This record gives sequence, structure tokens and C-alpha cells, in this order.
Amino acid sequence: MNDLSARKIVVASHNEGKLREIADLIAPFGFEAKSAKEYGLPEPDETGTTFEQNAYIKAHAAAVATGLPALSDDSGLMIDALGGEPGVYTADWAEGENGKRDFLRAMTRAENAMQAAGATSPDQRTGRFVAVLCLAYPAGDAEYFRGEVEGTLVWPPRGELGFGYDPVFMPEGHAVTFGEMSAEQKHGWKPGQPEALSHRARAFQKFARAKLGSA
Ligand code: IMP
Repeated sequence: MNDLSARKIVVASHNEGKLREIADLIAPFGFEAKSAKEYGLPEPDETGTTFEQNAYIKAHAAAVATGLPALSDDSGLMIDALGGEPGVYTADWAEGENGKRDFLRAMTRAENAMQAAGATSPDQRTGRFVAVLCLAYPAGDAEYFRGEVEGTLVWPPRGELGFGYDPVFMPEGHAVTFGEMSAEQKHGWKPGQPEALSHRARAFQKFARAKLGSA
């Protein structure tokens, strides 16, 4: 049954931050977020070459295993001077020794690659964050909601807020990086407000408007 009438969605992520963000977003609409952990779901390998494919792999596996609609999020940073890299490998670039994630290492790798490509002026250092939400149903079909935010890559990193590559990403029309913005400024959207800023908030906004009946 491809509907959300049970008002229960499995969040196909083991990331506590993502789970909280999604639970908070859908709660005002009377939806309950169940976590992948509650169902003991394994984390499938993200073997796709697009954000959509990886989002589908996660949401589809959770929907089939639980018999409930499942929502997943796959995201990353695309840098124009690097032909769209790191893209779906954004998290992998942070992989350090012992499998620990180190985002200073990831940001440095991106910076070195941009320098090597001769991308030194702001107009050569453009890119975007992308987030794709996939809502998958137990029967196998799925819907996608994609959010993007354009910006410039700065160096050195600026700001202690946020996570991941936030300190090197300055969204278009702003003079500060995501790392210098509060979560509220970064996402720039709550139900009922007109325009989201972050890629994830823009994707959620599309999802909420299409599926939850938000203005
Ligand atoms: P995944 O969606 O969990 O596969 O990983 C996405 C990767 O992109 C993570 O390593 C994040 O660090 C990075 N990323 C995604 N969204 C953001 C963001 O809003 N700020 C900073 N980094 C992000």
C-alpha cells in the first residue's frame, strides 16, 4: 500500500543526528519516526554511483524488512573544479586510519585537489551540497526529493558549528560558512516558512509539501 496512512515511517539510518532531524521534522505532522536500530536492521553497503541509488538501497532494504514506508537520506558535496568529486564518496574522503572519520583530513584533500586543478579564485571554486531523500514502500517503488545549495569553497576552514565540510562551504548570497551558522540559520526552514537554505532542508521541504501536506 503506497500511502502513509499508518503515519509511521522507518528512518533508514543508523546516524543518530539524521534520525533526530527527521523525527523532529515529521513529528509536527503527526508522524512517528521508527529507527532502523529499533528493528535491528543491518546497514547495507552503499554501492550506487548516484545519491538516488544509494538512498534507494537504504530505504528499500528498510521498507522490505519492516513492511513500513521507509525514508533515507544520502548527501554529499560536489566541487565543479573536481568534476563533481567527492560526490557520492564525500564521506569516504574522511576515512582515516583505524576507519575513523576525520573531516579536517577530508577538507584538506579537497583543498589540495582544487589547488592542483588551479582553482584558486572564488569563481573557480564553486560547488554544491546535494541531499536526496528517498521514500520507499514495501512493494518496491520509491519517490525522491532532491535539495541542492550552491556555494563557494573557502580556505582555511571557518567556524566551529555544524559538521562535516560545513567550515569550508559558503552558501551563495552569504558572507559566512555553514560552520559559522547556527542550525536554524543553516537550515533556514521550519514548517510554514517560505524558503529553506541547506540542501537537506530543501529536500525535506519538498518531501513535506508533497507527502505531509505542509505549506
Ligand atoms: P552520507 O549521506 O551519510 O552518505 O554522507 C554524506 C557526507 O557528506 C558526510 O560525510 C557529510 O560530512 C557530508 N555532508 C552532507 N551534508 C553535509 C552538510 O550539511 N554539512 C557538511 N557536510 C555534509
